[in-house]
Amino acid sequence: LAQLFRPLDMLGMVYRTIRQGLIDMAAMFELVDQKAEVVDVPSAQPLIVSEGRVKFDNVRFGYEANRPILKGVSFLVPGGKTLAIVGPSGAGKSTIARLLFRFYDVTGGSISIDGQDIGRVQQRTLRENIGIVPQDTVLFNDTIGYNIAYGREGATPEEVEAAARGAAIHDFVAAQPDDYKTQVGERGLKLSGGEKQRVAIARTLLKDPPILILDEATSALDSRTEAEIQRTLRDVSAQRTVIVIAHRLSTIVDADEIVVLNDGRVAERGNHASLLRQNGLYAEMWARQAAEAEMEEA
Ligand code: ADP
Ligand code: MG
Repeated sequence: LAQLFRPLDMLGMVYRTIRQGLIDMAAMFELVDQKAEVVDVPSAQPLIVSEGRVKFDNVRFGYEANRPILKGVSFLVPGGKTLAIVGPSGAGKSTIARLLFRFYDVTGGSISIDGQDIGRVQQRTLRENIGIVPQDTVLFNDTIGYNIAYGREGATPEEVEAAARGAAIHDFVAAQPDDYKTQVGERGLKLSGGEKQRVAIARTLLKDPPILILDEATSALDSRTEAEIQRTLRDVSAQRTVIVIAHRLSTIVDADEIVVLNDGRVAERGNHASLLRQNGLYAEMWARQAAEAEMEEA
């Protein structure tokens, strides 16, 4: 009887493998949210990152024709420096991250890295050089180890574990019965928002890119875990160009420059101290969050 069932088992396995592949593909497309029209120009050259200088020059963009989201945004992040972007929800912060990764093309102005217009370089090389920890992470229906290793092809188990430690997710993984082989996703272990964020951070640590975008990367974490990961992120940020989109202002006080985005425009810019002195939007947000923090402690 067992003999009879074996071919059926085989078929089942093949079916599962194919099905899994399709689900991975779907997750992939969601992950890159890539529109078909973003393609390499015929003369596209590889992006060569020397310093990692990121420049937005009067960038305009809208998802729909008659609804501008970015209305002429300019900033310059010198190589190795950290720029923080803050501002109310819906201001266009995540859109800036998506445009730098070229999920969409700008409709006006330009974005360049070390003087190369990102619309004219090979997308593959652009994306190799940029790591994004997004607001919401999509996991593949596969093992947690696979989900971390996805950050870099050919990563060894030791490298995967080191990245997981850096992202404070190793202890969680080690506590699962199947360790790094634990299935996650729809039919596996369901991860919380904070756990998914830590997987995304581990992926990015493994990728080790010269340019890093953190889009509210620690917003779903409790403050203790956030403090733990902030230390890793600070270490990682030291040697590279970082754009950090932050909800909690306390995490970006040390940024080299802070840009306050409001309704698709740069409303204020400066460092933490100078922005407080300007007594505008930033100072207001800071005061509000300080009051909230006090409420929590009380
Ligand atoms: P933030 O990150 O500052 O909260 P976003 O950049 O995500 O803001 O969004 C800015 C605006 O663009 C919002 O009004 C949002 O509704 C709109 N938006 C975001 N993504 C899309 C999309 N895929 N299609 C249409 N509108 C979008
Ligand atoms: Mg956002």
